Amino acid sequence: MKIGFIGLGNMGGPMAANLAKAGHDVTGFDMADVAIDGVTMAASGAEAATGADVVITMLPNGNILRAVANEVIPAMSKGAALVDCSTVDVDSARAVAAQAAEAGLLAVDAPVSGGIGGAAGGTLTFMAGGSAEAFAKAEPLFDIMGQKAVHCGESGAGQAAKICNNMILGVTMIATCEAFALADKLGLDRQKMFDVVSTSSGYSWTMNAYCPAPGVGPTSPADNDYKPGFASELMLKDLRLSQQAAESADADTPMGKIATALYEQFVESEDGLGTDFSAMLPRFEKRSRE
Ligand code: NAD
Repeated sequence: MKIGFIGLGNMGGPMAANLAKAGHDVTGFDMADVAIDGVTMAASGAEAATGADVVITMLPNGNILRAVANEVIPAMSKGAALVDCSTVDVDSARAVAAQAAEAGLLAVDAPVSGGIGGAAGGTLTFMAGGSAEAFAKAEPLFDIMGQKAVHCGESGAGQAAKICNNMILGVTMIATCEAFALADKLGLDRQKMFDVVSTSSGYSWTMNAYCPAPGVGPTSPADNDYKPGFASELMLKDLRLSQQAAESADADTPMGKIATALYEQFVESEDGLGTDFSAMLPRFEKRSRE
């Protein structure tokens, strides 16, 4: 397949390299000056998209996606597919899909889970929104870049799944960290706390796979001085997307709201910026009940 790949950063770079390694003809474009193994670089997004069967975007946010789509959609051939793997708001995902459909293109919103390790290792999970035809066209590429792709529904459904997943993630990380901080103050050994909770009803991905306490559980950013991993400001971005979606859908998400406010305080008024999102634990440890 001829693939255009726009946005070759921490995630997009290794994803594009995996497609090229699998034998696809990949032309890439990024605003920054980057070189990716096996990928031919173009001078613009439109150039990368010209003649492509599939154009993949992996960009920072919905506004940038909309701007890139305005440039790229007119350059694409009818019947080609635009596959956006960025995490963006549901409204932007739906607007870009509608614009693509008007131009006679297929469109899929397909955000990912699995982080930079998953992007490099080809083990991402894709959550996709779009027609069955659009999903079928993109699926062989998801199989190369990831280990699982779920077709969640029509346009926007992939972003909806991602936003809901990450709202659970933010809330669960806070709950895990505040429980560890309480356990510390109750004099409970952290390893014992992990041994109990990781096999009891409080278990979760944040406890079992990404434990925020250093030296406990599998290796995680807590063992690397809370260097990200998944940065607190990215968690805040995704929590804000959840609250924006909740507002437009009139959904009551009180825990998501509190988690958003806490990460906002942590990133904007405390020392959370540039730390992994599990650095909520040292934050709670420093504090007493207010
Ligand atoms: P990144 O900042 O490393 O990469 C984004 C790239 O887009 C950069 O290289 C930037 O130069 C390029 N770019 C920006 N504007 C552009 C434009 N107009 N035209 C062409 N290129 C442009 O970010 P990332 O970590 O790769 O994340 C990308 C997306 O994936 C985000 O939406 C993020 O939320 C999501 N995501 C990230 C992770 C993670 O662990 N990093 C995990 C899951 C999802």
